[in-house]
Amino acid sequence: MKCPVCNGIQTGKVGVDQFYCWNCFVEFSTSNDLVEIFEVLEDGSLINMTPLEFNAARG
Ligand SMILES: [Zn+2]
Repeated sequence: MKCPVCNGIQTGKVGVDQFYCWNCFVEFSTSNDLVEIFEVLEDGSLINMTPLEFNAARG
């Protein structure tokens, strides 16, 4: 799975449809053809930082 942010392949699977990019230090999910990007905080919580244009074309 390529990272949708940097298009790199330094990613690892961390869950069902969830991946981690070692280059960007973000998690991303691709469930239901919808891309979401999450920043991981030090306490392990996730912040959704998906750019709007990632899914803007979807109805
Ligand atoms: Zn990346």
